[in-house]
Amino acid sequence: MITCTRRLEFDAAHRILNHESKCKFLHGHRYALEVSFVADDLDNLGRVIDFGIIRELLGAWVDEHLDHNTILCRKDQNLGEKITAETGQKIYYLDENPTAENIAKHLLEEICPKLFANKNVKCVALKLYETPNCYVDVK
Ligand SMILES: [Zn+2]
Repeated sequence: MITCTRRLEFDAAHRILNHESKCKFLHGHRYALEVSFVADDLDNLGRVIDFGIIRELLGAWVDEHLDHNTILCRKDQNLGEKITAETGQKIYYLDENPTAENIAKHLLEEICPKLFANKNVKCVALKLYETPNCYVDVK
């Protein structure tokens, strides 16, 4: 099996509701994500998907929705509304706490299938680094 993987990076803030320690405070990360695709057949040039298409579709989506943004749980809407009122920032909300696990799962299960719906590829794995030393893998 051949997988095609592209790395993308973005800066975002989040906080983890009910975290036992300092992750309950708003803080930021330089996130890096590695997204992997498979195809039933290689295209006529011999590719799963052009690396540029991944950048064009998912990279653009990440730039628009996550980069230099704040990612919060919907239950944290009070904070989100204050940030928006003060800065004009449009918060990105998840149904779940914005842990690396939940962000990765959201990207793999909800965002990628929509973005790549007509590209004859399937997004099969996504690795999300919250720091250079810590990442989650969702398949
Ligand atoms: Zn964090």
